[in-house]
Amino acid sequence: MSVRHCWVVCCVLLVAGVPTAEAQEDAQLQSPSAFLGYELGEQFTPHHRVVDYVRHVTAHSPAATVRQHGTTPEGRPLLLTTLTTPRNHERIDTIRRSNLKRAGQVDGTPQADVAVAWLSYNVHGDEPAPTEAALKTLHALADTSTARPDGVRASLENTVVLLDPCLNPDGRARYTQWFRETVGTAANPDPPAREHHPPWASGRTNHYYFDLNRDWAWGVQPETRARLNAYHRWMPNVHVDYHEMGVENPYYFAPGAEPYHENLTDWQRTFQETVGRHNARIFDRNGWLYFTKEVYDLLYPGYGDTWPLFNGAVGMTYEQGGGARAGRAVTTNGDTLTLAERLSHHHATALSTVEVVAAHRAEVLRAFATYHESAQEDPPGRYRTYVVHRQGEGGRVAALAQLLDRQHIQYEYVRETARVRGYSYREGTMERTRIQRGDLLVHAAQPKGRLVKVLFEPKTTVVDSAAYDITAWGLPYAYGVNAHAVPERVDVTTTTTPPISGSTALSADRPYAYAITWRSRADARFVGALLQAGVRLRVATKGFTVDDQSYETGTLLALRADNESPAFDDTVRGLARRHEQRLHALETGLTEQGPDLGASSVRTVDRPRVALLAGAPMRLERVGEVWHFFEQTIEYPVTLLPPDDFDASMLDNVDVLVLPDGDYDDWLAGARASAITRWVRNGGRLIALGDANAALAERPSYHLSSRTSSGAVRGDTTGTGARSGDETPSAPGSIHRVELDSSHPLTFGLDGPYFTLKRDTEAYTLSKADGWAAGALMTAAPVSGVMGTEAQQAVEGSVLFGTQKLGDGRVVYLVDNPLFRGFWYSGHVLFSNAVFMGGR
Ligand SMILES: [Zn+2]
Repeated sequence: MSVRHCWVVCCVLLVAGVPTAEAQEDAQLQSPSAFLGYELGEQFTPHHRVVDYVRHVTAHSPAATVRQHGTTPEGRPLLLTTLTTPRNHERIDTIRRSNLKRAGQVDGTPQADVAVAWLSYNVHGDEPAPTEAALKTLHALADTSTARPDGVRASLENTVVLLDPCLNPDGRARYTQWFRETVGTAANPDPPAREHHPPWASGRTNHYYFDLNRDWAWGVQPETRARLNAYHRWMPNVHVDYHEMGVENPYYFAPGAEPYHENLTDWQRTFQETVGRHNARIFDRNGWLYFTKEVYDLLYPGYGDTWPLFNGAVGMTYEQGGGARAGRAVTTNGDTLTLAERLSHHHATALSTVEVVAAHRAEVLRAFATYHESAQEDPPGRYRTYVVHRQGEGGRVAALAQLLDRQHIQYEYVRETARVRGYSYREGTMERTRIQRGDLLVHAAQPKGRLVKVLFEPKTTVVDSAAYDITAWGLPYAYGVNAHAVPERVDVTTTTTPPISGSTALSADRPYAYAITWRSRADARFVGALLQAGVRLRVATKGFTVDDQSYETGTLLALRADNESPAFDDTVRGLARRHEQRLHALETGLTEQGPDLGASSVRTVDRPRVALLAGAPMRLERVGEVWHFFEQTIEYPVTLLPPDDFDASMLDNVDVLVLPDGDYDDWLAGARASAITRWVRNGGRLIALGDANAALAERPSYHLSSRTSSGAVRGDTTGTGARSGDETPSAPGSIHRVELDSSHPLTFGLDGPYFTLKRDTEAYTLSKADGWAAGALMTAAPVSGVMGTEAQQAVEGSVLFGTQKLGDGRVVYLVDNPLFRGFWYSGHVLFSNAVFMGGR
């Protein structure tokens, strides 16, 4: 008997928490099979049936409640069930608040000593076994009948289990629906069968093709935002994120692999080992294969294990061999791996983990409290206060504050001026700086002190360079704000009330022009709204001064001369109010410095009709970033074009075409390539991202040239696959300072220097004849994160952003992805320039 067949028998005998059918007949609570009408593993449970079963369980068990914490972009509910004894349910708020007190989120002494373990399933929609396992575990924990083994009952007396059966319902629905319509009457275990080969777009990601298991630190997606809120209502002590990996692998559980982030505590490491030993005992007993300590590093803070770790929990990833290549059954290593087997392993580790948490409850609670107390009393790292300067930053500081709010990180606004010495993110040196009213302060000494350090430290501490995801993400770089990390605590008077920024109280009723700043994503959204409302805008390509007030390059102008509609003032003012944007009323077109407002350098901004190639062979997540940017971030219409069916006529009503990162080798050729070039020559604006640049570089008419050597890291490999680090890229993702040509429209509002997240060693030059570089990598050494010396040599001096005139149109080359995972805020300003300021 093979290992996999053996366990079916052994599992029933040995794994705790498998209730018998007889016992359920007495109670109203039904098992998953009784409720759904099939045994778990026989088919994929559609998400709406998952929801039905969760509602059934919580309606019929005194041990379970459910709360909807959010809704997906496609309208599916996000659910969190609470599982514990009926007695604990009676005081559930006391238990919850006690935990928040230990986490420093609520004042006072904890009144209850109950541990909290959170189980998360199916964050990757095409790794479907976890949700099936969740149903089994949900039933086992909710069943209060005598059928429930003593172990489970005893565990729940001092533990609350929070179970989210599906973190990514839209992705799961995409996968399971596809599978349902693709499979025949019986599952076909033959690996070449089409049911093992999901099409573009796979169900891994959410509706906008974002990998939700990269988003915990940023909360770009609605699923993450809702989950962060729910998480902060509890602050669990232990968090398990359930996944599947390649079919050829057996089962993986904690402890994780190096590199660990230096801010994981000894206790977090030790307890991972305790849990691992307990899981191993059950797997040993059943003769199941497993491995630990490999592959999954704990560095990047956007994962479902690292983020909880940086929030005091013991965060762990459990991976079952399977996923989309496994269907309901697949032949692998001469054996057949079934969905039923996959889900049973995940069920076993869930019960095992709950058991080990319960057994170590006192230690778990003590260590959890200590984690947050020590962060308050003796925060890690060399900096005590991070200062974010408000001067000239407009909406960016407010946007950063929103991220801090999502993360429950405390911050304050300065009320008096002071001088301090700190590390300048922009200059990379210690220097004296002036703190002013309205500057934002984040102190390291706070319950979330470790997360603060992880997100703010100017240089990531990486123990081992074999990281598999990006190695740097410092928020001041990402947001493009002027900030200092100060070694001493900055003690000045502060307030929690943000300074008032938006104001439309204008001196003149009918000004000559309205001036609009161009610094932030909020500005881009406002400008997009004005253009959609039919307001005609111009952009000042040089700075100017009117009424002693200076306006920077990139300032937008709504001139009365361009807008004869009687509704002009109401439209502009109304939209400014709705977008909380500040307007400046100018009563004259005559400037004191710089060109007058009627000068030719004050150029018309068109209202571009934007299209994006969305489909194979483009990269799913990279397409999603662009789509999400338009639809959700700046709320500007975008038409998604099908690359498969593409033909020239599709560009007839398009002004801006975005070529996302993808595999263009075959796609950008022949008639398609000619059609696109012709369209550019006729006035189109082409924006190339990622490998679209490489494809254009190989074509005539385009003046970008690749100088990439054969050993370079090609394209986008950062953390897109399963988290398996078989290769060691020399450019996993690091932050670099970019010198900008501040007269280039791509740099408007960026107030350089710009910091780019560099994730490959593609290197280009741009011919000076028709090309215009906006930003180049003059210093290859990263300001934060890891990049190998060879990689540095490869990219030094290369062009990162630039434009080229082609006929009546323009090509915008964006070599480094400014929209990566939707969190590189200043990249959004850069990309907005490409869309609105690229010029014709
Ligand atoms: Zn996964």
